[in-house]
Amino acid sequence: MMPDNWDITADVVVVGFGGAGVAAAVTACELGAEVALLEKAPEGQEGGNTRVAAQGYLNTSSAESAATYLKALCGPYTVPDEMVRTWSEEMCLNNEWLASLGGDPQEHQHQPAGIEFPDLPGSDCVHKFHDGPNYGYSHTWNRFESLVRERPIKVCYELPGRELIQDGATGEILGVRAEQSGKPVFVKARKAVVLTCGGFENNQEMIRNYLSGVPYCYTSGSPYNEGDGISMALAVGANLWHMNNFAGPSMALKVPEFSTTFSMQALHFSKSVPGGMIVVGPDGRRFTDEKFKTRHGKVPSNGTWQALSTPCPMYMVFDQTLMASGPLYDKTPSHGWTQIIERYDWSEDNSAELRKDWIRTADTVAGLADAISLDPDRLRETVDRWNAQAEAGADEDFGRELMLTPFDGGPYYALEMSPSMLNTQGGPQRNEKAQLLRPNGTAIPRLYSAGELGSIYSYLYQGTGNIGECMAFGRIAARNAVKETPWP
Ligand SMILES: Cc1cc2nc3c(=O)[nH]c(=O)nc-3n(C[C@H](O)[C@H](O)[C@H](O)COP(=O)(O)OP(=O)(O)OC[C@H]3O[C@@H](n4cnc5c(N)ncnc54)[C@H](O)[C@@H]3O)c2cc1C
Repeated sequence: MMPDNWDITADVVVVGFGGAGVAAAVTACELGAEVALLEKAPEGQEGGNTRVAAQGYLNTSSAESAATYLKALCGPYTVPDEMVRTWSEEMCLNNEWLASLGGDPQEHQHQPAGIEFPDLPGSDCVHKFHDGPNYGYSHTWNRFESLVRERPIKVCYELPGRELIQDGATGEILGVRAEQSGKPVFVKARKAVVLTCGGFENNQEMIRNYLSGVPYCYTSGSPYNEGDGISMALAVGANLWHMNNFAGPSMALKVPEFSTTFSMQALHFSKSVPGGMIVVGPDGRRFTDEKFKTRHGKVPSNGTWQALSTPCPMYMVFDQTLMASGPLYDKTPSHGWTQIIERYDWSEDNSAELRKDWIRTADTVAGLADAISLDPDRLRETVDRWNAQAEAGADEDFGRELMLTPFDGGPYYALEMSPSMLNTQGGPQRNEKAQLLRPNGTAIPRLYSAGELGSIYSYLYQGTGNIGECMAFGRIAARNAVKETPWP
């Protein structure tokens, strides 16, 4: 549907102001294109998951090893060789690109290796970086954002892309119908559109349809990523890939007052929080090693890696010692939307959250079971079994090694846990030129993408690979978009 008038015109229209959007917009601008960057969030909440990420990005040390490692990460979920080659070559250039723009790539010191799957071939290619002397706290994002601000890139906040405008005869993408305050805003792309609007972390219908094992799931990242890029791409004939892959699940608190999750200190593998603590499913039984360091939600299973089981509703059940040990939530604003943007001030003694009924309590385990609608006998049995195994120093059920502490004499507490994730990986399929593909493998003219919206990761995920890929494919998308001849 061609509009009578265009409200905004640019050579390249980038949809989504996160890491991939920055790499695409800045690269296109450096190559002389006029760039418009559309962002759904209001100013101050742009940046998507990139802004609240741990801030690491992958810069691989050798293209050959990187290709070997990526193929091993994909396992049986293979991706085309040409994509593997392009990813591997471009991922070695992230530091060079950032430094060429005045950035300050620094290798992570506190995590010198950070190799998620050291047993896989090629894993020695992994090198994790961030911008500037400090890690976390949005530092890499701040650099990315300044790269946009220093350039004549037109940034439009609160202007979500809703629909791609496609030439009915040629299939070419001519622009975007965006929306402001319920009214359409037509944005013309003389050369091309680049979709960089993130995943479907906040779209429960897509989660139910595409992610297996989770009836619902919430994110610790941006609440603005609602799968819009997937809907827009589907409507112009794109194919989807990697839809069932996501960086999760973990277990976290989700309350109605906030759209993103709260991570619980006691469940973190690296935190030694005192007191008895287990997690049970709706049957009142444990189902996992609660302190296991998953590989972004994957756990070993019969020689394969599978998503952590999350039988919902799940409850973290714990004792008075843990309750009295300090805030259950780590509010340090180093990463996570709740910590960095919401800044909810969790009480030091957890009393405010008890009053809000986020935390339930009872004097006895059976009473607690009643309060959370679990079978009292079963929960009592589960706690007794845990206590006996903890006292003996061996979790015979799930092999937990950390914090084998029996419960004290009460009172007892419970928090409902939800499946949580960092981000989804699936979306429209792209090729080595970052063009979006139809199911028959042909490219949709003048349409590109980058970032977690249809990322290359099909099975296992190496931490920092997402932002690294945003940088790599953002550049590739922009280089090819700029080469397009403007449509008449
Ligand atoms: C807590 C946390 C920690 C993480 N740590 C790391 C890490 O250290 N390293 C790493 O590599 N990965 C990490 N990840 C994953 C990584 O942050 C993301 O996969 C990556 O940043 C995605 O970048 P993106 O540009 O594709 O999307 P985002 O950064 O999510 O940006 C998408 C943007 O599009 C906007 N948008 C959405 N819909 C529309 C629309 N219709 N129109 C216009 N704009 C729209 C959003 O508001 C957002 O600003 C982490 C994720 C989380 C949540």
